[in-house]
Amino acid sequence: MAKISERIKRLEGAINSACVRVGRDPGEIKLVVVTKSATVEEVKEVIHLGFTDFGENRVQQLKKVYTQVDNFSNERDSDSAEPGKINWHMIGHLQRNKVRQLLPIASLIHSVDTLRLAEEISASATKQKLCPKVLLQVNTSNEPKKYGVPVGAATHLAEQIETLPNLKLVGLMTMAPFTHNKDMVRSCFVRARELFVEMRGEKIVGPHFTELSMGMSSDYEVAVEEGATILRIGSAIFAG
Ligand SMILES: *Cc1c(COP(=O)(O)O)cnc(C)c1O
Repeated sequence: MAKISERIKRLEGAINSACVRVGRDPGEIKLVVVTKSATVEEVKEVIHLGFTDFGENRVQQLKKVYTQVDNFSNERDSDSAEPGKINWHMIGHLQRNKVRQLLPIASLIHSVDTLRLAEEISASATKQKLCPKVLLQVNTSNEPKKYGVPVGAATHLAEQIETLPNLKLVGLMTMAPFTHNKDMVRSCFVRARELFVEMRGEKIVGPHFTELSMGMSSDYEVAVEEGATILRIGSAIFAG
């Protein structure tokens, strides 16, 4: 099993190559390290390597890792280089009854896909005097069981979310289907990018609408080629 640092180096190399293929600047792509298959020791190792953005798909798990890592930075003596501020990303399906406890922790919520959820976030954030950043999760694969707003309904939902206080809609998120069919994966990412460009062009969203969260361990190179600004990657870093 390769070491985590080697795996990340390989990952960064592949991201850079994908950028070169399409003439993109790797500096415009953020890697969110997904920790759901990692031990605390492994997460700490990645922090030591200088990474600042971590994601979980369940609120309980996010809170747990957040607490463990917070203890870890407290343990360190004040002379040592402090790890930079860590940004926690909620990337999985979010239940409304978990919103209140998530808000103080999460830097970005990737999975807003209904007005009811957006309203809950807005109301809870208002009470807590917060203004969380959120992404609209879009179902670009048309699989009925997938989370995410259907592509055809996304613009209208974005308009509604834009009217809510104490929440900032900063982009879109999508997941491609689990398949080896790269064309199918690519067509999902293309659909997300086209929607993203269209929403910006029609001024449905503000100038802070800049993020396109797509690409996981199995499909991040395609996602980079199609315009992703945030990659969510776990198993390519942690799985043996
Ligand atoms: C687990 C997960 C990822 C990361 O998946 P890997 O295949 O381990 O890279 C990305 N996004 C979401 C929403 C996830 O749940």
